[in-house]
Amino acid sequence: MVARHRLQIQLKALESSIMEQAQRIVNYKIAKELEHSTEKTDQSFSKKVYVYKHQHTGRTSINCRSCKRTCHGGCWVPLDVLTWTCESIVDGKCTVCENNCSIKDHDREKYEYMLTLEKRVFTVAEFVKSFEESFLEFLKTINKVNVLIKELASKALRPDVLSTQGYIEHIIKENNEEKQEDYEPRGKVLTKVRDYIDKGDLIWNLKLSHLIKK
Ligand SMILES: [Zn+2]
Ligand SMILES: [Zn+2]
Ligand SMILES: [Zn+2]
Repeated sequence: MVARHRLQIQLKALESSIMEQAQRIVNYKIAKELEHSTEKTDQSFSKKVYVYKHQHTGRTSINCRSCKRTCHGGCWVPLDVLTWTCESIVDGKCTVCENNCSIKDHDREKYEYMLTLEKRVFTVAEFVKSFEESFLEFLKTINKVNVLIKELASKALRPDVLSTQGYIEHIIKENNEEKQEDYEPRGKVLTKVRDYIDKGDLIWNLKLSHLIKK
């Protein structure tokens, strides 16, 4: 039971990474279009990116000071001294943090690191290069979801209802309901990811060019 909860907490935490990266793909598409339409790749363009803001939410969560992320939003641990009992923590280490940060880096507080869109200025060349280098991170995140879903399905009473496509579908639904800036192109990118997974192809073969195709 505890293991099942832990997998659910880990999956929940990956939702914001996927949203953040989907927005980066949207920006990449625009940078690529600018790159094609002009020779000047040192021109700058401003776009909204997702940043994590430490915001008061009123509900108790376990947050990592080092990663600046919420590891368990809406945690039910009643006291600071009991933080180690949070299901995200195993043997004093966080199973949600990318580098399995120590429990000492974590705070139990009524704040969460929330995704917020903020304007940033880039040069086209800078953005294209940095994103092409980081695309592998996106594939790694999707792969992690895949692994967690399979593990969860093996422990679930109804494993048939769990799928990576269903997980992505849930993010698309939230994105479309929240209607934050750029939600339409973001929804399109995520739909392409879902359809790709639906075909059963290997996630590592998913090309960035496929995601920005019209
Ligand atoms: Zn951390
Ligand atoms: Zn917890
Ligand atoms: Zn953590």
